[in-house]
Amino acid sequence: MNERETLKVNESGHLEIGGADCVDLAKQFGTPLYVFDEAYIRRMMRVYRDTIEKEYGGNGLVLYASKAFACEAMYRIADEEGIGADVVSGGELYTALKAGFPASKIYMHGNNKLDYELEEAISAGVRCIVADAVTEIDKIERIASEKGVVQDILLRINPGVEAHTHAYIQTAKTDSKFGFSVADGTAEKAAEYALSKAHVRLRGFHCHIGSQIFEKQSFVLAAEKCMDFAAKMKGKTGFVTEELNLGGGFGIWYTDEDRKIPPEGYAEYLEALLCAVAEKAEEKGLKRPYILVEPGRSIVGEAGITLYTVGAVKEIPGVRKYVAVDGGMFDNPRYALYQAKYTPVLAARANEEGTETVSVAGKCCESGDLVCADVRLPAAKPGDLLAVLSTGAYNYSMAMNYNRNLIPPCVLVREGKAAYIVRPQSYADLTRNDAVPEYLRKKDAKSGKE
Ligand SMILES: *Cc1c(COP(=O)(O)O)cnc(C)c1O
Repeated sequence: MNERETLKVNESGHLEIGGADCVDLAKQFGTPLYVFDEAYIRRMMRVYRDTIEKEYGGNGLVLYASKAFACEAMYRIADEEGIGADVVSGGELYTALKAGFPASKIYMHGNNKLDYELEEAISAGVRCIVADAVTEIDKIERIASEKGVVQDILLRINPGVEAHTHAYIQTAKTDSKFGFSVADGTAEKAAEYALSKAHVRLRGFHCHIGSQIFEKQSFVLAAEKCMDFAAKMKGKTGFVTEELNLGGGFGIWYTDEDRKIPPEGYAEYLEALLCAVAEKAEEKGLKRPYILVEPGRSIVGEAGITLYTVGAVKEIPGVRKYVAVDGGMFDNPRYALYQAKYTPVLAARANEEGTETVSVAGKCCESGDLVCADVRLPAAKPGDLLAVLSTGAYNYSMAMNYNRNLIPPCVLVREGKAAYIVRPQSYADLTRNDAVPEYLRKKDAKSGKE
């Protein structure tokens, strides 16, 4: 697959993604529509995979953090690229297995895995479960002993690193629902507890310091703290950390406030991490652990865009102009959740300069239902095609049917040709699971029958 730019503006002034003209895509598939460039996704997976190969002798595995965008086709791509996946629910595990993804390359996460999810994971033979509570260690022990197996686990620890990102998506502060704190000794106690179990085999530790982080130093610091913790555990209990999972969280470009990193540029982040681990291992006399990283957003975020059609345009004189589209928080709830920022482009007039500041509004019955707040656009008219960039991660995966809007389909573009990877929903899908108790059923007035 060639390495063309994911996005470009063609001779007609139309935005193209992966060689497909957005105007044609909208004609063929309608809007709203999620579009993904396959080449970008594969390129990102290869950058991470090859960096572990080159810089760390291949002693590790890249796990695609599939919560960023999960569907069968994504697991197929990850599998073809030879990387693993992490899943955070029974539903993601089910999807991965249905796609034929090898359980031997799946790590299972979650701060409150349900009994049946643990059952499913252990039955499927997932490579490793990342335990995040003492009660969970008990549950894994019970299920594994019932099945007569020994389950490999990692412990999620909280190294207490403050990452410079939005507070809502920062997870390794001391006050966090994720992980066992290193600082207050609970991580050590949990590790000792896990080591006392017969059907649980502790392999090492996991940390994930947050998301959309650009500061290399935050990752390096977290990696060093994990290695310090490994050294402490070895000193106290003789436990040898075989695996260290350093999570994901690498930042991507959404707007020009963010750094724009070409795919190959992400190698630097991983190199810095691997280097920090190797140096610490040397310094502390530890074995170099098998390394896992779990990028999600950086693999698929910039690979995707969402296409909308402009509908109502409303100007409140002296206040604001709203450009409403046929989507909104039901396909992208990230503004509503944490005022996430995005860059919109009028896809058929992509060379035109922005001439006014507007907010792109969704069609849901919520004032907070914006897709982009205060962005520059050329004067948009009803019927214009609007592309919102960098929507590949945490958009479809967070989509919902609020107001009984239909979740848009997803198409994958390969060499300029698009195919569905998630088909459109229908109204019938909306009522598929509705149930009407007998006493509420509408009776035929004459016969008294339904
Ligand atoms: C969300 C998450 C990731 C992926 O984070 P990105 O910012 O998408 O790279 C990786 N590991 C864990 C444990 C996560 O919760």
